[in-house]
Amino acid sequence: MINLSKYIVVTGGVVSSIGKGITSASIGRILRSYGVNVTAIKIDPYLNWDSGTLNPYQHGEVYVTDDGMECDLDLGHYERFLDVGLSGKANITTGKVYSSVIEKERKGEYLGSCVQIIPHITDEIKLMIRDIAKQTKAEVVMVEVGGTVGDIESQPFIEALRQFSHEEGHDNCMFVHVTYVPYLKAAKEFKTKPTQHSTKELRGLGINPDMIVCRSELLLDSKLKEKIAHFCDVSIDAVINTPDAHSIYEVPLTMYSENVGDYIINRLKIDAPDKADLYDWSQIVEDLKIEAPKVKIGVVGKYIELEDAYISIREALKHAGADNKVKVDIDWIKADNDYNLDLLSQYDGLLIPGGFGERGIGGKIEAVKYAIKNKIPIFGICLGLHAMAIAIAQLNGESEANSTEFDKDTPCPVIDMMEEQKKINNMGGTMRLGAYPCKIAEGTIAYEAYKETEVSERHRHRYEVNNEYKDFLIDSGVVISGTSPDDFLVEMIELKDHPWFLGCQFHPEFKSRPNDTHPIFKSFIKAAKDHKEHKF
Ligand code: GLN
Repeated sequence: MINLSKYIVVTGGVVSSIGKGITSASIGRILRSYGVNVTAIKIDPYLNWDSGTLNPYQHGEVYVTDDGMECDLDLGHYERFLDVGLSGKANITTGKVYSSVIEKERKGEYLGSCVQIIPHITDEIKLMIRDIAKQTKAEVVMVEVGGTVGDIESQPFIEALRQFSHEEGHDNCMFVHVTYVPYLKAAKEFKTKPTQHSTKELRGLGINPDMIVCRSELLLDSKLKEKIAHFCDVSIDAVINTPDAHSIYEVPLTMYSENVGDYIINRLKIDAPDKADLYDWSQIVEDLKIEAPKVKIGVVGKYIELEDAYISIREALKHAGADNKVKVDIDWIKADNDYNLDLLSQYDGLLIPGGFGERGIGGKIEAVKYAIKNKIPIFGICLGLHAMAIAIAQLNGESEANSTEFDKDTPCPVIDMMEEQKKINNMGGTMRLGAYPCKIAEGTIAYEAYKETEVSERHRHRYEVNNEYKDFLIDSGVVISGTSPDDFLVEMIELKDHPWFLGCQFHPEFKSRPNDTHPIFKSFIKAAKDHKEHKF
């Protein structure tokens, strides 16, 4: 078999949340900057088939791909850093692997065999990885293994990847182990022992890492690197230090300055120029560093304790800030607290993100009413659009207006479940998911932003503006600026006599890139800047 792709497997040790996703995305970005065609896979060793039914408090935001898969948020990092569109198949879970094996067993594909973790589960894992390589024709496939080495859940994946590296051959597969090197303030020293132990754990599973990426609060010196190289059996130039960065987008530059690019290009014998061209990327990082002037954005949400729950929104706002030459300061406002509405006057813009369930909806509706009365720019995403429609209806005499998501028997269901959703019982993967075309009406804020009459955006919802209330909403000042191409579904709303009021049924945050800010976010931050400068 001719080897078309090479693979870089990224594992993690010591603690979780050390930034394996950003490390994988950064390595991918560096290779892209050599002109290498890169894609990325995230392995999530949990039993859920996808992330769709996970509480955002547990794993952060559910990221949605064009093809409608509800994925781990690391796919968002990959898409933003690599500037590629990924298929949902790039998120491999234990649930998907076992479902597929059991389905094959029922079909009789393993007739006569006792179906086991080795070889059947491990073979399936390898097949799924190679499928992505084949589909994308990528020269390099980043494979990030979620969790921490030593977890019971990830063992079949680690074993599969051990076998995989032999099958692909030394020149076609390498392992990067990401660890944490703590600094003990009292002793005034870094401790390498956790890194040594977790590398030992990995080696015990049959994998010798080629590179160790040491996350730390502060910079490690060369002596420490030597020690890690010595105890972990990697070469000194393969001990990479990524101290805490101001911005995640700096990480590719830090890693490149540690010669990660050179090392990988040589180790995998990749045919590439001598140097990566990271000029554009470093410009992006510079633009993102802006500290003044500032605009203040209040995000009125319900999962605000965990910022990762709104990670794509946070990133899209940052991109839009850099594009408008302002720093975006974000305050996360808990919608289900009885917050003091007058505090909203300090914001140059308000954003109501998506969400599910009744908790916090009252606070979101009140925020919309406040923004209408005080002419503050306001941006509603998915459930945010629902809150907008409800608020407008309530302000126009329908005091009991609601969504049937929160009150099945509301006398005024301005938001209702989509017809096709009413027959569905299963909760997993059954929403209106992924990319759909949206027709944009000229002469609207949406058209001003997109400058196109048809766009494609990603969705994740069951409820929609109820067409029976369309005329009422229009009579109440609503402008329908985006619809499905058949005009049936309301996809975007705006409001007359308001400087910047826009709700969208889809999630534009998933398509914003540091080098290509989403037009609606860009327009929103521009409006916030104008509001601050009293231009309205
Ligand atoms: N809960 C709403 C629905 O299902 C909104 C979903 C969302 O904000 N993503 O339609």
